[in-house]
Amino acid sequence: APAPPPARHLFSEPAEVEALRGNLLAWYDQCKRDLPWRALAATESDADRRGYAVWVSEIMLQQTQVATVIDYYNRWMQKWPTLQALAQASLEEVNELWAGLGYYSRGKRLQEAARKVVSELAGRMPRTAEDLEKLLPGVGRYTAGAIASIAYGQATGVVDGNVIRVLCRLRCIGADSSSPAVIDCLWDMANALVDRSRPGDFNQALMELGATVCVPKAPLCGECPVKQHCRARRRKLFGKPPTVPDVEDCGVGDCPLCPPATELWDSSLGVTNFPRKAAKKPPRVMRTATCVLERRGCHGAPEFLIVQRPSSGLLAGLWEFPSLPLAQGLQEERAREELADQLQAWMGRPVAAKGLRFMGEVIHIFSHIHQTYVVYSLPLDGDVVLDPALSPSRWVTEDEFRASAVSTAMKKV
Ligand code: SF4
Repeated sequence: APAPPPARHLFSEPAEVEALRGNLLAWYDQCKRDLPWRALAATESDADRRGYAVWVSEIMLQQTQVATVIDYYNRWMQKWPTLQALAQASLEEVNELWAGLGYYSRGKRLQEAARKVVSELAGRMPRTAEDLEKLLPGVGRYTAGAIASIAYGQATGVVDGNVIRVLCRLRCIGADSSSPAVIDCLWDMANALVDRSRPGDFNQALMELGATVCVPKAPLCGECPVKQHCRARRRKLFGKPPTVPDVEDCGVGDCPLCPPATELWDSSLGVTNFPRKAAKKPPRVMRTATCVLERRGCHGAPEFLIVQRPSSGLLAGLWEFPSLPLAQGLQEERAREELADQLQAWMGRPVAAKGLRFMGEVIHIFSHIHQTYVVYSLPLDGDVVLDPALSPSRWVTEDEFRASAVSTAMKKV
């Protein structure tokens, strides 16, 4: 078994834990942001509806800013106010509403899980973090803890990016914050710290602190309600006392929670020495040729052809202009020919490569992919019949295109 983390990185004094809980909750009561899912979780008497509301908000908030999520959340809850309503929605409707939020598989899995609750769990949400994680697809440890504590009052902690930052600073944890030793320690710490009588508020307070005060680049330490418990701040203000053992003395090189011996404290960074992240892998570079096929619709308005992507993988089930991923280093002329061949197979009639008009390039950054779309256009005369054995396709006007389940990248195109 791995050695337990050095006590210097933990909260070992019960009085300190009590004080931290009290200070944090008092600050939260005064300063918390008004957010629609908080209002619902605080006033809704139906436990399943509370759980559903927290669940939707937490899934939307993964990798996405609060300000962006509010509008999506309100529209979602208006359209599907209950799990039962969501279970009856089509994937197409879910994708349409989700379009623009990114990470599209989250919406899809949310709906799959809602169907499971309705069909297999008699419409009743699991009530504990353990059951939520075990029974609901797409619900991981964090989301399960958030739903269980906020909606059902279970005294269980949560660890997300904000909590990682706050706890690493509070306890000077400088080892790679994605390492198993650090993650395990942070979960143990979050579970030990969570307030027993107000677990949901405590967890939200810790996350709120990370989102508004203990922010990544320029934390507002002077306004921080837990500054007297913060070892990173103490370290910044007073430096390392030469004679008194401090947290950074945990046997350099041995401690699984200290910064690596090669990375000394950088006084210009202050508290932002913590947390430390492993170097990110560079994003994959991809190029895709895409063609905007245009025809005159029956009322003379232009219409555009969109096709549906496969039901798994990146942007699963979303609609796009006919597109073709390009091999690395492919010359422009060759790329154009390959796209023409693809369109020809689709339409069952000759498409001359030189008929494709180059419109420009559009760059879109997905979390792990640096994507360049090489955009062409091709006006068509008369009707075009597409091979139904290939991807589903349809003609849409510009307004219909905008209301369809298309990605932000395609809207840019
Ligand atoms: Fe974060 Fe500063 Fe508060 Fe410490 S004192 S928890 S570094 S905001």
